Amino acid sequence: MTRPSILDEVLTSAGCSGETDPGDRPRFAVTNPATGDRLGHVPDMGRSEVHKAVRSAKVAFPVWSRKTAKERAAILRRWYELIHSRVDDLAQLLTLEQGKPFNEARGEILYGASYIEWFAEEAKRIEGDILPTTGPDRRMLVLKQPIGVVAAITPWNFPSAMISRKLAPALAAGCTVVIKPAEDTPLSALALAQLAKRAGLPDGALNVVTSVRAAETGEVLTSHPDIRKLSFTGSTRVGKLLMRQCAETVKKVSLELGGNAPFIVFEDADLDAAAAGAMLCKFRNAGQTCVSANRFYVHASVLDAFADKLAERMTALKVGQGLDEDTTVGPLINPAAIDKVEGLVDDAVAKGARARLGGGRHARGGNFFEPTVLENLDDTMEIARAEIFGPVVTLIPFEEEADAIQMANDTPYGLAAYFYTQNMARIWRVTEALEYGMVGLNESVLSGENAPFGGMKESGIGREGSKYGIEEYVEMKYLCHGGLGA
Ligand code: ADP
Repeated sequence: MTRPSILDEVLTSAGCSGETDPGDRPRFAVTNPATGDRLGHVPDMGRSEVHKAVRSAKVAFPVWSRKTAKERAAILRRWYELIHSRVDDLAQLLTLEQGKPFNEARGEILYGASYIEWFAEEAKRIEGDILPTTGPDRRMLVLKQPIGVVAAITPWNFPSAMISRKLAPALAAGCTVVIKPAEDTPLSALALAQLAKRAGLPDGALNVVTSVRAAETGEVLTSHPDIRKLSFTGSTRVGKLLMRQCAETVKKVSLELGGNAPFIVFEDADLDAAAAGAMLCKFRNAGQTCVSANRFYVHASVLDAFADKLAERMTALKVGQGLDEDTTVGPLINPAAIDKVEGLVDDAVAKGARARLGGGRHARGGNFFEPTVLENLDDTMEIARAEIFGPVVTLIPFEEEADAIQMANDTPYGLAAYFYTQNMARIWRVTEALEYGMVGLNESVLSGENAPFGGMKESGIGREGSKYGIEEYVEMKYLCHGGLGA
């Protein structure tokens, strides 16, 4: 295995290069989920380091927010270019700490960088308003100002893109940030921060808190009066907790939480397109994405044909280490993740589900799970309700359109939904009926920097990306300028 040069740069910048002891500061190991190998150590920060990071973001706020939008845009643009110039290095690092196949990791780096490019452009278009006046002696205006210091807490499934998706709009708007990446994958965050510094971001504008003490660091980030906004991506359980914690200081929150995406195949669908879409949507990142198809509702008349087409494609999947060239499905993130997926599949099979393909841990051992197709499911099974977060397809037949819609919406979640049909009237009926923030129609890869990403119901609040994304990081201020005479 080649060691990405950025790994050593990152460990050095974190004060944890090699195996030398950085003193008595606590630190924790980052491991490769495919092999269990240690990649290095990073500082395990606690309460006092978070306070320090918030102070430094607060000091940097006037410096950064008073730069012109064009100056901020130029720095973001340089950051974007530096990421592009190191894309392979960054992708290798991402694969090593997260496990996903190298090509997916590369795609994630470029996808994440696209938000930085986009918001570098949007920085220059944060426009206020001049309102029609209610009297000749006054003028009425709306100003847009950066909200202040932002806290961001991010998950391990996209260790780079979930971070750039938050940092880019926050920094573009003029906010400064304290980010706490997931404990499984802190290295990609440190690498991004290092390139941001090289791009000219002033000291203190971006502060990375690496820690295994999620509750302790989260408690400070959600209660600190100098933090005005929390942007969180992760589980619904933790999102609710953080939202409660933010209530005390009435912080603005953006939450991108769990999904339970339905994937509906109608009888008039192009089944080849549906099977190809299902593959992308289900097996990317070994099924560990919040927009992964989680429940496949297939019209009974085409269920077998669809399942055969899917199974045929699935036999071409290659489970392995992400840096092996032919790998298409990597390991799950850690032993707890594989225990959870195994538990869901075992529970379903014990209650009568049938595995059409796969059904258990992969012969490679470790954190690898077999690509699996389950059928004959019912509501008593835990898998019928849970967000699987693994390479498991659950096939559920339906007869009527209304039943498919009802089952699709029968969940507290509302992030992404997909459906395949060629019927024009049905397209609008189903699109309008689905209670989801994002809908893929004859399409299963729908995220992009120019589109609003986010969910309804318990899947979250707010949108990331697009022209709407910047609004999460600005305050609106109404100015009434009076005394101007008649
Ligand atoms: P996942 O299931 O994707 O691991 P989590 O919600 O557990 O989702 O984790 C997402 C992020 O939230 C990670 O950075 C994790 O460290 C952090 N986190 C987990 N528990 C807490 C908590 N109690 N307070 C603050 N942050 C937390």
